[in-house]
Amino acid sequence: MKNNTYHIIFDKNYYNKEIGFRSRKHPTWNFTTINGINLNFGGKLDRLNHLISFETDFIVNGINLRGEKFGINFEEFFNAQINGKYLFYKHTKSGELQSLIDNIEIECKYSDYPLKETNVVLAITPKEYTNQEWEGNCNRIGGDPIWIQEPEYLHCPKCNSKMSFIFQLDSGLPDLNENGGNEIMFGNDGICYAFWCDKDKVSGYLWQC
Ligand SMILES: [Zn+2]
Repeated sequence: MKNNTYHIIFDKNYYNKEIGFRSRKHPTWNFTTINGINLNFGGKLDRLNHLISFETDFIVNGINLRGEKFGINFEEFFNAQINGKYLFYKHTKSGELQSLIDNIEIECKYSDYPLKETNVVLAITPKEYTNQEWEGNCNRIGGDPIWIQEPEYLHCPKCNSKMSFIFQLDSGLPDLNENGGNEIMFGNDGICYAFWCDKDKVSGYLWQC
């Protein structure tokens, strides 16, 4: 795929219910989707929570992510950042994700159930929504992040270069707990931002709320 900004479009039955203030009537939930793209989303990735995978050629902000699978531990994600650290994972050739941050202190218990597994399709973001506010469907790939606070970029812990923005996921996605599913919260009802260093094959994550 070419270098675009995409909205992630979920099946109508994916969400459990109305999600907070993010009106399901917002046009960003219902853009026309691209034929032939189907990305695996949610579920487990070894001991981590799988977010999204790019099985075939897929260019995001100039980087081909073919074969890369993204996943994190939600409890560590929340707790690392309240102590001023960010999550980073080295993506090995065998597809394993190795945390580059040691000793993440778990001060706050946090749900670590995976996202409900599904396949998602994509829509090319219409021009008028490129600089979308934090409203409607804020689950996107490529382009620029929708920041809730001031813009914030991560630097690769291996080479110290500014990392490239890859995708963002908004709170409210359904999880897989045994009580029928709750909403995943990134921070306190915020957005999870994923970054990438292509030289070192390192992913980095931060949340804002
Ligand atoms: Zn690097």
